[in-house]
Amino acid sequence: MLRQYELVERVKAYDPQADEDLLNRAYVFSMKAHGSQLRASGDPYFSHPIEVAGILTDLQLDDETIATGILHDTIEDTVATQAEIDRLFGKSVGRLVDGVTKLSKIEAQSDDERAAENLRKFLVAMSDDIRVLLVKLADRLHNMRTLGHIPSPEKRHRIARETMDIYAPLAGRIGMYEVMDELNQLGFQELEPEAFASIVARLERLRTGGAATVARIADDIRQQLARHGVEATVQGREKRPYSIWRKMEGQGIGFEALPDVMAFRVVTTSPADCYRALGVIHQHWKMVPGRFKDFISTPKRNGYRSLHTTVVYGEGGRIEIQVRDAAMHAEAELGVAAHWAYKQGDEGQAARESYPWLADLVEMLEHAASPQEVLEHTRMAMFEDQVFVFTPKGALQPLPRGATPVDFAYQLHSEIGDSCVGARVNGRDVPLRTRLVNGDQVEILRSKRHAPDPAWESFVVTPKARAAVRRQVRAKQREAQLTMGRQLFEAAAARFKLPMSDETIAAGLTRLKLADRPALYTALARQMLSEHALREALLPGSTAGAPKSRKPKAAPAIPIKGLTEGAAFHLADCCHPVPGDRIAGVSRPGQGVEVHALECPVLERDGTDRLDLAWDAASPGATARVATVVHNQPGSLAAVANIIAAHAGNIVNLSLKHRDREFHTDIIDIEVADVAQLNAITSALRAAPAVVSVERVTAT
Ligand code: MN
Repeated sequence: MLRQYELVERVKAYDPQADEDLLNRAYVFSMKAHGSQLRASGDPYFSHPIEVAGILTDLQLDDETIATGILHDTIEDTVATQAEIDRLFGKSVGRLVDGVTKLSKIEAQSDDERAAENLRKFLVAMSDDIRVLLVKLADRLHNMRTLGHIPSPEKRHRIARETMDIYAPLAGRIGMYEVMDELNQLGFQELEPEAFASIVARLERLRTGGAATVARIADDIRQQLARHGVEATVQGREKRPYSIWRKMEGQGIGFEALPDVMAFRVVTTSPADCYRALGVIHQHWKMVPGRFKDFISTPKRNGYRSLHTTVVYGEGGRIEIQVRDAAMHAEAELGVAAHWAYKQGDEGQAARESYPWLADLVEMLEHAASPQEVLEHTRMAMFEDQVFVFTPKGALQPLPRGATPVDFAYQLHSEIGDSCVGARVNGRDVPLRTRLVNGDQVEILRSKRHAPDPAWESFVVTPKARAAVRRQVRAKQREAQLTMGRQLFEAAAARFKLPMSDETIAAGLTRLKLADRPALYTALARQMLSEHALREALLPGSTAGAPKSRKPKAAPAIPIKGLTEGAAFHLADCCHPVPGDRIAGVSRPGQGVEVHALECPVLERDGTDRLDLAWDAASPGATARVATVVHNQPGSLAAVANIIAAHAGNIVNLSLKHRDREFHTDIIDIEVADVAQLNAITSALRAAPAVVSVERVTAT
């Protein structure tokens, strides 16, 4: 275990300005807090955070990060509190420790790949300070190095699986390849002990059995290139057991076939020399078909350039070779930061020197707005368009940013969305329009008797939720129409004073060419069927002498005064003027004259050249639009419909605009002869007990 002064000295070695006092206080605090706790290995628990801090010094991280490493398990595993950490070590370290504690509480929920991918993204999204993630990775790395001390094979297995599924790819994602390799290595060793042992033994036999070594092959390549006058440096390495295993799996190669266990890098002085070097290599050793890639003529998306090839060397052994020039090599090593540092001069150089890992990180952060932004804020800009929340059972659910509990409910299941009446976030009741944030645990409160509120449409963000709300609202409107039609039918039947047997109705449906009762109700509600026609259908001959309902008369040639004879015109959809209203016209090219009520805002806006118009005495009537608010109780709509019918108005269309527990608001289009008739209807409606208010809609 690292001693206190050793740790401080390590930090001082790369950062002379580091806060020595902070590190010392953190060391002592953590040692006291962990006290006599022991690790599975029998070591004092305290050795773990110190080793984690040691790993972080390898990455040459700043004093706050090192202190966070030392303190990272104090809140979770000891009596220390967040307030204490904040008070003793400052807000900045407090925030980092809090971040690591939160990450540590999250465990993989299942083996499926999507869950792992989500968890990776979530970890990144949660770590709004990249240093939180680095401490977590160092923590995991030390736990993996000491995995063998855990007695339970199941637990070892689970930790190894999680490491390979989540933490190793995450390390790769932020450019920490060394950490990624080691995590994979340790995980592989735990999960596939036989394969690991077999590969290690095979590598050992290759080394001792007279097969060409890395150094000898590198030498051979160097000589061939020199003989053809190509100036280049050649480096080689043996691949690690895990990457050999991956290749064997990926290519379906058995243990006995020899996969390419060695890789070489040739660095030349110019792009032209890269191709010359490749020519020399392919001339001397047989290339393996399908393995050659030219990333110089077509670079990778992140700008990476190199030639990749695999050749057969010696007795059937295969080696991988990458060829690039010095400039390409620098870029590949430093990524985008190479360009950036170059452009920014001293400042960029300083940033790169104080945070060496940042160079690789920047290359990986393709999603960040700009490398500069990353370097300035050292924040993860990835996945900013997503939030990750939890179900009550702890399953992770990704949602678009701005999503609400309603979006969450519909994402889980449309039935859950449809029956959603409330939400509890992190144990507290919240309004359904609340925007969810990373890490929220969301519980949906449901009621079978509830239906989606049309108002939800104004705040949901997922297409699934929006479509479901619209669908439900339409279904509700249809239902309201059926209810209204049935009430109209019953009211009419009562007025007819006719016996209404099933046979009578069936015969009536046949005469009306309607399929069933719902079709009849809909026809009535939509005023496609008059009371007169209904009565005649139910009891043929019974309407003889009975007064017919009022019907619009045939349109006279010029129902509106002020228009030239034969001019095309139509009544505006915004204000729905009816005879008796004061009106004016706006000429619309190709559509004739649009007739508006004088107070209509559209007329105000477009009517610079308005035509003065007046209704002709013989006008056939028009459709007015009213908004009614009625008590949400049985029979309310029927009362409204009866009042309108009693005043000889025709309901042309009815739509439910809004409904809550107490009231519903409907938009009703009524065909009337003139404004006097409309006024009679609205007055009567206002007098009805079921009706709260009636307003004429004169603008949209
Ligand atoms: Mn730990």
